[in-house]
Amino acid sequence: MEIAPLLFDLGHQTPTTRQVADLVRAGGPDALTEAMRRADAARYQEVRCRSALNSVKGMPFHWTLNPYRGCTHACHYCYARRYHTQFELGADDEFASVIFVKTNLVEVLRRELQKPSWTGEYVAIGTATDCYQPIEGHYKLTRHALETLAEFRNPAGIITKGPMVVRDKDVITDLSAHAGCTVYISVPCVDEDVWRALEPGTAPPMQRLRAVRELHDAGIRVGVLMNPIVPGISSKRSLIERTMKAIADHGAAFVGCNVMFLEGGTRDHFLQWLSSEFPHLMDGYRQLYARKYAPAAYRAEVFSVFEEMRQQFGMSSREKPTRAEAEFNMQTADRSLFDLPPV
Ligand code: SF4
Repeated sequence: MEIAPLLFDLGHQTPTTRQVADLVRAGGPDALTEAMRRADAARYQEVRCRSALNSVKGMPFHWTLNPYRGCTHACHYCYARRYHTQFELGADDEFASVIFVKTNLVEVLRRELQKPSWTGEYVAIGTATDCYQPIEGHYKLTRHALETLAEFRNPAGIITKGPMVVRDKDVITDLSAHAGCTVYISVPCVDEDVWRALEPGTAPPMQRLRAVRELHDAGIRVGVLMNPIVPGISSKRSLIERTMKAIADHGAAFVGCNVMFLEGGTRDHFLQWLSSEFPHLMDGYRQLYARKYAPAAYRAEVFSVFEEMRQQFGMSSREKPTRAEAEFNMQTADRSLFDLPPV
């Protein structure tokens, strides 16, 4: 599979993520002298990955694939912010402005799918950072990974906030027909003020819903995740109602939601941002987020409003598996609607 040509000459072999992390540890992000700064002011560091398929535990799927690390969508609640600290980078601005690009992802994926030990399990794409963030328009790593999965008849799911996913409806249709592929589009709230505040680098929510409509009309199984609902900002009953109505109007096959959780670098970043943008919410947050999760009673209250709206607008909470996904455990698939990451 051919990777899109480089726009700049690295002059030597692309480093691994570990080598890049060592470089940053020694000299800070400025040590990434070969990272290319693009028009969006982010810097893109090409890296070599050792594995394309990553094994995960405690999720409703066992394998994930993420072409990029860091995300210019810059959602303030993003749980993946804390992962950037694994590369010695900050969970604040650096998460959204220093992006690692796994340029050898597709060749590694092909090798892994060819292994006799690989049993063709479901692969969740875009679980750590958005696989259709703007740089995908250049590298097309997500598209080439989907083509490879289709070639090997391997079922997959895609989680994204990027309307660019419609570019790949041909290959998603192919994968859907031969193995099964569900697209989960994340639209936590359709209110434009909430969107601007919480997700400064993403496409507007209605543009994402138009992508839902386009995929649906192409015969692709697509649902919406209202992930995450952010207490005091997107948790109002009227906002959940408006969002659910818009989701129903755009042909989504199912809808799910979760309530934001906070830990590590994400917690530090979010609370700092909240204190500057919504200082009047800080007292409530100190109580609500004394721990990683909001209290069960609060989450149950949000879910009950969500459930009421879901039924009011006739939305399904679960997806029907395709024939090829029939082995996928539906009990855990249900859970996935609530536990999937906040892409
Ligand atoms: S929540 Fe998703 S889209 Fe937003 S910054 Fe994180 S990975 Fe990117």
